[in-house]
Amino acid sequence: DNRERLDVAAPASLRTPLRLPHKALMGAGPVNADPRVLLAGSLPILGHMHPETIAVMDEIKEGLQYAFQTKNPVTLCLSCAGHGGMEASLSNVLEPGDVAVIAVSGLWGHRAADMATRHGARVVLLETPLGQPVSLEAAEEALAKHRPRLLFLVQCESSTSALQPLEGFGPLCHRYGALLVVDAVASLGGAPLWTDRWELDVVYTGSQKALNAPPGLAPITFSPRAMQRIEARKKPCSVYYWDVRVLGDYWGCFGRPRIYHHTCPITLFLALREALAIFASESLTATWRRHADAAQRLYDGLDRLGLGLSLFVEDPRHRTPTLTAVKVPPSVDPASVLRTAISRHGVEIGGGLGPTAGRIFRIGLFGVHANPMTVDMVLRVLEDSIKNPISVSK
Ligand code: PMP
Repeated sequence: DNRERLDVAAPASLRTPLRLPHKALMGAGPVNADPRVLLAGSLPILGHMHPETIAVMDEIKEGLQYAFQTKNPVTLCLSCAGHGGMEASLSNVLEPGDVAVIAVSGLWGHRAADMATRHGARVVLLETPLGQPVSLEAAEEALAKHRPRLLFLVQCESSTSALQPLEGFGPLCHRYGALLVVDAVASLGGAPLWTDRWELDVVYTGSQKALNAPPGLAPITFSPRAMQRIEARKKPCSVYYWDVRVLGDYWGCFGRPRIYHHTCPITLFLALREALAIFASESLTATWRRHADAAQRLYDGLDRLGLGLSLFVEDPRHRTPTLTAVKVPPSVDPASVLRTAISRHGVEIGGGLGPTAGRIFRIGLFGVHANPMTVDMVLRVLEDSIKNPISVSK
């Protein structure tokens, strides 16, 4: 009987339960989560409109307003990875034909430019050498010349570990009638960011970096100025899933009854709620200081190793405390070092990304990893992996 015979058999690979090794995730993210966060992910599933779910969403919103340092009512989580934050920012603000000035100094500006182009914008790239941020003067020149709808900056360009200063750019953009959109995926929670004080209009991040929650959520905030612009669109955002005017009603941002926008990933919400609870239990200024201290300890330690390891970002003011790119010395095979770190020590260190592939190691000190003991541990691992590498056949 054909109805009893299946065309595809149950896979043998799924007959055994999952077993996973423990790894210290010290690359560019994701990052290890506190057991309290992982436990929260094993709590019962709830419906997307259940009162308990709504209460958790309200708590997440407050935690995010704290992390973003904003009173924006439109502060919520997108149910997606950081890329979705990028896509939602651009697709809500931009209309076809708009000009977008996008700072590029590594991988992420290019990705934003690709997305903005797909949404019909005319993209102007504001390029700086790898590892160097955009200056206020260069931004002003571009704003004056192109009169764009928005300026896009990446606070921590994780392909180089450069930190883009943000202070002054908000008022500057507003003088030229532009909105300031900031990617804070690899920095929020580890490097100082003041959404309201610095007049940032759209800021998004990822749950899996300094907030130490599982990947899969993209916290985002929209200023009243950004919302005014979005309300004035000729046509709604072309992607329903990203449209903050609809999604905002699921998150109760506009004082209207909640609507069903999508089935939320409740398990991720519960985990992020706990991660934000841990995050908020330390004062934000203390968190920032802890990241800065850990990064300095790493720089000093790399220097002390005497293995010719120098930092990719030369100017100390332009280094992000969350992630440190170290130049691969000429005699060292980066693939062997990274393989040794993970297979002998269970420590993931990142390699380069995009234009820095093969040129740097990236050491992440996000959230839980920003402490002296972990810094000393990763220094020992790096030392051993460089001195006694497992060879990797190419
Ligand atoms: N922007 C930056 C600066 C990032 O570092 C990353 C992730 N490495 C992203 C965006 C994209 O995030 P995700 O991988 O969660 O989509």
